[in-house]
Amino acid sequence: MPTLVMKFGGTSVATLDRIRRAAKRVGVEVAKGYDVIVIVSAMAGKTNELVGWVEETSPLFDAREYDAVVSSGENVTAGLMALILQEMDVPARSWQGWQVPLKTNSVHSAARIEEIPTDNINTKFAEGMKVAVVAGFQGVSPEGRITTLGRGGSDTTAVAFAAAFDAERCDIYTDVDGVYTTDPRIEDKARKLDKIAFEEMLELASLGAKVLQTRSVELAMRFGVRLRVLSSFEEQSDDAGTLVCPEEEIMESNVVAGVAYQRDEAKMTLISVADRPGIAAAIFVPLSEAGVNVDMIVQNISEEGRTDMTFSCPVDQVARAEKAMADAKASGEINFHDLLADTDVAKVSVVGIGMRSHTGVAAKMFEVLSNEGINIKVITTSEIKISVLVDRKYMELAVQALHDAFELDKVG
Ligand code: ADP
Ligand code: ASP
Ligand code: MG
Repeated sequence: MPTLVMKFGGTSVATLDRIRRAAKRVGVEVAKGYDVIVIVSAMAGKTNELVGWVEETSPLFDAREYDAVVSSGENVTAGLMALILQEMDVPARSWQGWQVPLKTNSVHSAARIEEIPTDNINTKFAEGMKVAVVAGFQGVSPEGRITTLGRGGSDTTAVAFAAAFDAERCDIYTDVDGVYTTDPRIEDKARKLDKIAFEEMLELASLGAKVLQTRSVELAMRFGVRLRVLSSFEEQSDDAGTLVCPEEEIMESNVVAGVAYQRDEAKMTLISVADRPGIAAAIFVPLSEAGVNVDMIVQNISEEGRTDMTFSCPVDQVARAEKAMADAKASGEINFHDLLADTDVAKVSVVGIGMRSHTGVAAKMFEVLSNEGINIKVITTSEIKISVLVDRKYMELAVQALHDAFELDKVG
């Protein structure tokens, strides 16, 4: 039997009625003759609630217990989906990560998948099971502890299963009907893309477009998984949604494919650190060991052997960063005058493979922001993207102005 992977995100399983609607979609694919692997998220809002409980209980929590708590939301939806399918006379059962087993490394709260043995599920398919409902986002470490794959990780579970089971396609059902030129929630004129290149989707995801988890796009690219994003709220045809595919399959595209944003960033500046060999390592190794995800880095011009070092990180990691820097100062590894945290910034990025061959995108971006009176605090660029940090209150305006200026509502 050909295998299909269908993933339903939090809003698509937010109530029993929505799980029933999703199960109906699964029934349609079973009727076509597929063995189906369904990956479910926790009900909308559930994971946030669980994370909140952990943070309230223990601000610098033990990540193993964090995983034990936050993975539980998916267990509920997996069991409920299996029950509903059984009520529909579709032979189905639920699988938690450890039962598959979905094996990961031991990096709790951001674990990477190492292996998905297919025997247990395949044995059940051979015995007549038609649907394996797998709890997304979770796995088991070599030590036998429950792990999670990072927020949005059910997308990655889905793609990894599609690769392991050589599925015909991996369909990601969500609350929008595909990948848009930017988040349709903040730009009405955002346009749905029929296709998007893996490289562009990878950048958009890593720059904040949470419609797919970054790691899921990486895996799909590496294993050649046909990845589709579509709505769980509409009746779907076989070519609905957006196909994420190799760039060769895309005939026409704009220089800029999309605009992404990350709302909750912080800009940290170490004032007056010694400008000497090894200073960057002395700062960023402790930050990394403290679990701080540093993104942009700018080292200022040095004066009389001292310099300022600026970096950005997620706003909820500011406390960890401050502690890591205070500890490094106390132990004499670094010396600085002050650590300033600007917790009211956001990152806005434009992405497109067309930038490889077209110049002037950065200049245009800066001009657009300047015309809106938006001050740019930090800039980074790579081959196919340009990112800026701006005051959070201007984030929506920046996204909309860039979407307009690059005419993303029109097909290139
Ligand atoms: P799920 O719970 O199904 O995993 P997510 O909330 O994680 O859904 O992702 C879907 C959301 O991603 C959409 O509701 C939309 O607001 C947001 N989003 C951000 N950027 C984009 C984009 N470029 N295209 C489509 N959706 C986007
Ligand atoms: N429930 C998890 C989260 O909200 C995983 C997911 O939905 O992909 O991050
Ligand atoms: Mg998601």
